[in-house]
Parts: sequence; C-alpha cells; structure tokens
Amino acid sequence: MSNIEKDTEGHSYFGGDLGEGKLVHSNSQFERYHVETREAPWRIRLPKKFRISIYNNCVNIQECVQACIYNVHRVGEDGRITDPVEDLCRGCHCCTLSCPKGAICVELNPEFQRLGNTYFTPERMENIFFEAETGRIPVSGAGYGGVFAGKGFDGFWFDFSEIVRPTRDGIHGREYISTTVDLGRKPPRLVFEGSRLVSEPPRTIEIPIPMILDAPLSSPSDRSLALALARAASILHTFSILKAEDYFDGLSPYASNLMPRIPSSKIIEFPKLIKSSRIIELDYQEEKASEERIREDLKQVRRINPSVIVCTKFSNIDELAENAENSARAGVEIIHIHIDDCIVEQDPDTIVEAIRSVHTRLVEKRMRDEVSIISSGGIAEAAHVPKSVILGADAVAIGLAYQIALGCRFCYGDKHRDDCPMRVEDADINLASQRIVNLVNAWRDQLLEVLGGMGLREVRRLRGELGRAIFYRELEEKVYGDSE
Ligand code: SF4
Ligand code: SF4
Repeated sequence: MSNIEKDTEGHSYFGGDLGEGKLVHSNSQFERYHVETREAPWRIRLPKKFRISIYNNCVNIQECVQACIYNVHRVGEDGRITDPVEDLCRGCHCCTLSCPKGAICVELNPEFQRLGNTYFTPERMENIFFEAETGRIPVSGAGYGGVFAGKGFDGFWFDFSEIVRPTRDGIHGREYISTTVDLGRKPPRLVFEGSRLVSEPPRTIEIPIPMILDAPLSSPSDRSLALALARAASILHTFSILKAEDYFDGLSPYASNLMPRIPSSKIIEFPKLIKSSRIIELDYQEEKASEERIREDLKQVRRINPSVIVCTKFSNIDELAENAENSARAGVEIIHIHIDDCIVEQDPDTIVEAIRSVHTRLVEKRMRDEVSIISSGGIAEAAHVPKSVILGADAVAIGLAYQIALGCRFCYGDKHRDDCPMRVEDADINLASQRIVNLVNAWRDQLLEVLGGMGLREVRRLRGELGRAIFYRELEEKVYGDSE
C-alpha cells in the first residue's frame, strides 16, 4: 500500500501518521522529488543594478542596439532608439565600447549599492529576489563575478576534482541524485532477539531536502506570514519552525510540517502543541545547559508525547560544543546551532567555526551518527547549503534569505515596525509561499549541480567531508608557510 499521501493543498508527501515520528518513502511507489515552480512577482521591486544614460550627442546610428545581446537598447517605431530597458542590463559595457560618439554611460545604481549590508550584499539580495521570483538558477552569462577568498563561507571553495570520481549530470541527469536527509536519532547499534528488535528503534524523520525554514526574526504581526511559511513547508515536504507563542488554530492543517519552538523553561505551557507535533524545538538560547537539565526537560516532554522528536537549540557560541555533547548524551535527537545573523555579519567565521566545532566534538565523542545537526545564521546563498553540509551539518534552517525574498529590510527583529515591507497580506499568502518554494527549489537545483560536479549520488555522503572543500587559509599556509 502506498504511503504517499495528500496534504490539505493536494500536494503529495511521503507520509506517516502524525505523532509516529516516521516519514518514509514508499517501497512500492518511488517518486522523484519534484516541486512546481512558477513566476511569483512581488509587489516590492529591488532597484535596478545599472543606470544607463544616453547623452544628447547620440546620432542614432544604433551600434548599441547591435552590441547589446541582452536587448537593452531597442529601436522605436519612429526609427530612433528608445529609452534603455535598464532591468535587462548586465553591465558588460559592450554598448559603451561600441558607440563611436561615446554617448552611452552605464554605471552602478547608487540606490542598488545601498541595499542590504556587508554580508547580505546587494548582489546576494538580487539573486535571492530572482530565485524567489522565478525558481531558476541565476546565470549571469558573464563568468563568476564573486570573490575568491574571504571570511566565513567565502573562505573555502568546492573541490570538484575528478581524480576521485567522475562528475554526474546535475539537474538534468539520468541518474537520480538524492537530496534526502534524516532528522533524528540513530542508535549506535540495533539489537535483535531472533527477528525481534529489542533495542530502541531509530527515531528519525526523512525530509527530501536538507533545508527547513526558520522562524521569522520577529513575531509576525500578521498571521498570513506564518500561514505562508507553513504552506511552503508543506509543499516542499519539509518543516517550518514557528515560535510556540505565534501558533493559532488556522495552522492546524499544516501541523505535520511545523516544528514549534518552545522556550526550554516553558515546556509545561504548551502540552497541546507538544502532543500534536512530530518534532519540537526546545530553545536554550544563550544558556549553558547541563546533561541533567536537558535530561529532565526531555522527560517532561516525553511524558506529554513519548514519540515526539526533540531538537535543542543553542546560540551561545562559546558553549555550543559542550551543549551539543550534553544534548546527545541526554538523548536528544536533533541539535540546532544558531548564530545570529548580526554576529555573522560582523564576523562571518563564527558560523563556520560553530558548525565545525560541534561536528568535530560529536565525532571525537563517537556520537555524531546518533544525532542530527541543523545550522542556521548567515545562510545567504545557495552555495551556503552544501558548504554547511561539508562542515558537518545535516541540514540548514533558512531564515533571513526568505525574509529578504518577501521584502525584509534588515531590522533584525528588534526594531520591527508596523510599516515593515515584509508584511504578507491575506491575499498574498499563496504568492508569498510560492516565492519561498521557488527560492528553496532554486537552491536545491544548485545543490544538485554541486553534488553532480563532485560525482556524489546523495547529499548524505557530503556531510563532514572536508576533503570536498579547499580552505583558503590552509592553502595559503601550505604555499607561503610563515612568510609575510
Ligand atoms: S551607438 Fe551611440 S550614437 Fe549610436 S545610437 Fe547608440 S548611443 Fe546613439
Ligand atoms: S552594458 Fe552590456 S548589457 Fe548593459 S546595455 Fe550595454 S551592452 Fe547591454
């Protein structure tokens, strides 16, 4: 019997009963993961990247029309060139070079350059907007325009060396590349008496992409944003985290795709949510949590729902590895390490070091395979997903990126205002969720390209594979040694 089920939107998902904590692929009916994308233009537009001026010494010989392969310069019905379509400009300057009169000026739009911050740069914001709008991979056609060294995720590159394994076709390949990951706890061994399993069975949930959606930075003043997130998570067959205090009855159709975030000190206040969820997240924020404390909290949760999968979330950089080890020892299934986007902006290395330190600690303690790691903070582009996995995460929680796709202007939650452009109106719920779906799908396509380039058949095999990356600092040290 097939266990591919339909949700409230009519989307099929690899289902298990709510509360069983098991989400499995059907043996009898195999389906490739596929999500429909469609154009989803938003009411907020980003400023154009380039500004084009045509000076009045233009003599209308239309060399620019010939030179621009992006159709920016056009000829009107009167035979004269029209105003350039600046949206399409890629800044290649072919037109400026071709114009014998020097009548064209193409320059970066200062309004565009003021977008975002030093981490969520204007270019990253532009890509996020494009991906959310179209569901496609942004291709500039003008080569790689990014940096070759830097801090954080910019400090290392993928190693596509073919010596190890030939590449596979990514998105359009004949072989299916799996992006499925497990969230949960796998016991170190299974013990059988005859054919009967006597040890504790694995407590895992399979999701078809190594991405979940993080809770919005500030509590959504309108419930439509929460509904859009829940709907997107349902379409993507993944999870969306929502703060427990932001729950309302209208979310119940999406319960199987929601992960309530409950402050660790308030477990007792949310029994209904704990009972109706497959995964819950206990938020310890900046705390240092002992094994005993986590064990007690777990007991409290399990008294309410014995089968719920529990994730512990920590944000204290200095205590992350210790807290993660304590969680694993206490019996937690998932560890969510979160570095605030503000901190990552100031020091992008923090998120890289955080993931590495937690993964390494659990490997050293031989507990890595018993728990899953979700990381969040600083996830600003598609490449950050496989890079997080290489560092040791099983999955990432996308936060600020989807907010940017909906118009967020970096108030980082603490200055949330009534005029926040991220507001999702009731009529926009489907459009907003489609933008999130488009964004995640475009990132998954890019993940497939990375896996294909590395010759990997599944993303699970990328976890902690530091050999699949080249670290700039290590390379520099190797080449130049101690020399200045
Ligand atoms: S090539 Fe220069 S002079 Fe000719 S139409 Fe274009 S802008 Fe005008
Ligand atoms: S800079 Fe390049 S893309 Fe932009 S209008 Fe000129 S030729 Fe076209």
